[in-house]
Amino acid sequence: MSGSGSTTPQRFRRPGSHPAARGTETALGLTRRARRINRTLAVAFPDAHAELLDFTTPLELLMATMLSAQTTDVRVNQVTPTLFARFSTAAAYAAADPAELEEIIKPVGFYRAKAGHLKGIGEKLVADFGGEVPVAVEDLVTLPGVGRKTAHVVRGNAFGLPGLTVDTHFQRLVHRLGLTDEKDPVAIEKAVGELIEKSEWTMFSHRLIFCGRRVCHARKAACGACPLAYDCPSFGRVGPIEWQDAERLVTGPERDHILAMVGDGA
Ligand code: SF4
Repeated sequence: MSGSGSTTPQRFRRPGSHPAARGTETALGLTRRARRINRTLAVAFPDAHAELLDFTTPLELLMATMLSAQTTDVRVNQVTPTLFARFSTAAAYAAADPAELEEIIKPVGFYRAKAGHLKGIGEKLVADFGGEVPVAVEDLVTLPGVGRKTAHVVRGNAFGLPGLTVDTHFQRLVHRLGLTDEKDPVAIEKAVGELIEKSEWTMFSHRLIFCGRRVCHARKAACGACPLAYDCPSFGRVGPIEWQDAERLVTGPERDHILAMVGDGA
C-alpha cells in the first residue's frame, strides 16, 4: 500500500500552521474550505447514508429513529419488524396497549419511556396532523420524544428534503474542523448551513458522521490517515500524525478505500 512509512505524508500541513488555527482565515476561505471538505468526504465515503434503520414509510422511520436514542440501529431493527407488522398507522399507535408496546420494544432499552413516546406520537399525529407525519421541523419537534436530530433524519430520508443532522459526531467534527465555534445544536445547524450548499446538507451530514465513526474518533483520531488532514486545523492535536500509528485507527468497511485514497496523495 502506498503511503506507508514512518514519515508524515507531504500533503499534510505542520500541526498548528493552518490559517484557521492561526486565526487568519477569511470568511470566503472558510466557505471554500467547508465545500472542499464536503467534496473530499464524498470521495472518501461514496456510500454514506443516514441510519442503518429499516423502514418503508415516514411513520416507520419516525418511530424507528425515536427508538434508536441511546441504543444501536441493530437492536432497533430487531424489534421493528414485529412493531411495524402490529402497528401500521398513527391511529393504531394511539390506541395501543402500553404493555404490548413495552413488551415488543423491550430490547432497545428505556422501553417504558419509549413506549409512552410511541403512543404519544400516535395520539398527537391523529389529533394535530390528520394521522400523517408532518414535514416541517417545527411540527415534528412537537411530537413526544422527537428532537431536531430525529426531525432532520425523517425530513432528509423519508421526504428527501435537505437537512443537517447535528448529532455528537457532527458537533465534534465541525468543531475540530473549525467550521464553527457555536455550541448549541440549533446555532451549529444555522452556521454550517450558511457554509454548505443547501442541496448538499443531508449528504454532508451523513458523510461527516461516517467520518466521525470511522476516522475522527472522539478519543483518538486517525489524523495521519485522514482524508481531511490538509483542511483541518486540528490535524495532529487529537490523534497521531505518523502513518503507522494512525492507519490502524481507521475502521469500518471503507478502511481500505480510505487508506488507498490518503496513501495515493502522500
Ligand atoms: S482525524 Fe484529525 S485531521 Fe482528520 S478531521 Fe479529525 S482532527 Fe482533523
